[in-house]
Amino acid sequence: MEPGTKNRHKPSLAVIGTGVAGLSAAYLLKDKYRVTVFESQARAGMGAYSVDYASNGITRRIDIPLRIFCRGYYDNLFALYNHIGVKIVTSDHSGIFSDEAGRVILHYGNARWGMSQISYLKGRSWLSPAAWSIGLQSRRFFARAKRDIRRTDLADLCFGEYLQQSGTGQDFVDTILLPMMSVTCTCDYQAVRNYPADIMLEYLTCGIHEIGIMSAAKGVDDIVPRMLVDIELRTNSPVAIIEPAGQQLRVATKAGADQSFDQVVVAAQAQQAAAMISGFDDRRALLNRIPFERSSMSVHTDEEILPAPTKGLSPVSYHVPSGSRRAEVSVDLTKGIARLSGQETIFQTWNPIRRIAPNRELARVDFTRPTVTRDSRKAVIALRESQNQPGNRLWLCGSYMAEKIPLLEAAVDSSVAVAEQLGAAIPWKASAAAAV
Ligand SMILES: Cc1cc2nc3c(=O)[nH]c(=O)nc-3n(C[C@H](O)[C@H](O)[C@H](O)COP(=O)(O)OP(=O)(O)OC[C@H]3O[C@@H](n4cnc5c(N)ncnc54)[C@H](O)[C@@H]3O)c2cc1C
Repeated sequence: MEPGTKNRHKPSLAVIGTGVAGLSAAYLLKDKYRVTVFESQARAGMGAYSVDYASNGITRRIDIPLRIFCRGYYDNLFALYNHIGVKIVTSDHSGIFSDEAGRVILHYGNARWGMSQISYLKGRSWLSPAAWSIGLQSRRFFARAKRDIRRTDLADLCFGEYLQQSGTGQDFVDTILLPMMSVTCTCDYQAVRNYPADIMLEYLTCGIHEIGIMSAAKGVDDIVPRMLVDIELRTNSPVAIIEPAGQQLRVATKAGADQSFDQVVVAAQAQQAAAMISGFDDRRALLNRIPFERSSMSVHTDEEILPAPTKGLSPVSYHVPSGSRRAEVSVDLTKGIARLSGQETIFQTWNPIRRIAPNRELARVDFTRPTVTRDSRKAVIALRESQNQPGNRLWLCGSYMAEKIPLLEAAVDSSVAVAEQLGAAIPWKASAAAAV
């Protein structure tokens, strides 16, 4: 059969954006539609910022950002990776928290057996009354959160209100919880406090501390091609406008290329989607209600960023200066990512507050990322309803479209929802149904 013959009679569909939402949407829809994917970057988005790192005579690719995940919260992502054959490994992301003077506040390790892990105080923290007190506050918080997750009024509270109401220990909140969630959500402490309480508690009680952190064994370069089979990918193709054109939607790129499609899935972030759709004023107004925050990630070999007492002690170092809006968090990739373990020490630092020597920096990338508020959640629900109208041809997916923390899972969750609405069978749901 001539290449493309089997696709000729399928309706056409464009996907805009190749983050995990766009890639998974394209993958799930390719059997039913002739899929063309547009990406503004030179490489598919998930791997757009990866860099090569050579040391000890070996060159390895480093994903920026790392993209870690855990069981219990990432059902769709696990099912997708499993389906496309991505190997998953466990890694240790235990941490050390230090203040602006480099004094260690708390240091913990994770002991693993089989599929489970337990955290314990390490090093001098074992002898520190302050660390024990924070540890106890942490235990009380998680025990209470596991009970409170069943409360029906949680969605009416923001996380900050919940923390106050629950009487959670302030030292634990300021030193551990907010810094950890500020890097998980890559936003300010205030934005963490503004999250709806149920969304935050759903993540915090998913078992992440008992099960531990995982990542794709071979990184993004092993994932992206598995989702792009039989799909036309157009990189360096930023889309400028999507607008109705008769029974179709017209997609025009900034370079002036122009094509109409039967269906269009916009898998860019909310503010990026709002900037490209024309003639959908209600949806644009709703998209503009999704807040987002900016932050940057540095990949470097500057060990000076870790204060002397914490150097080399832990895979993850949280620098928590009092009065700052966010933590600075460094992951020692040689400790946290198995495939990099033979390399010389290299870090990925989110939100670098301190100076990183320019000659030790391999890359610095600026990101935007949605956050969730009670208002943005209402906007997302209205956006989802707007897609239920008969004859709808414009579909939105992306990590902001699920009522979850905008992590990889939320992005895949949203692409699964759109693929189902567009009539695609979700392979892992079909096999689960057949097994019953
Ligand atoms: C620093 C950082 C660390 C993170 N770490 C983790 C982690 O460890 N685990 C985890 O689960 N999640 C993590 N996340 C979140 C995760 O990266 C996101 O949830 C995920 O990338 C969202 O995917 P997406 O497809 O919705 O959006 P994006 O990944 O933002 O993809 C949108 C794509 O659309 C493209 N695009 C935008 N405008 C246009 C246009 N006009 N034309 C064509 N293409 C366009 C963009 O180039 C991009 O490729 C992290 C996020 C950040 C910022």
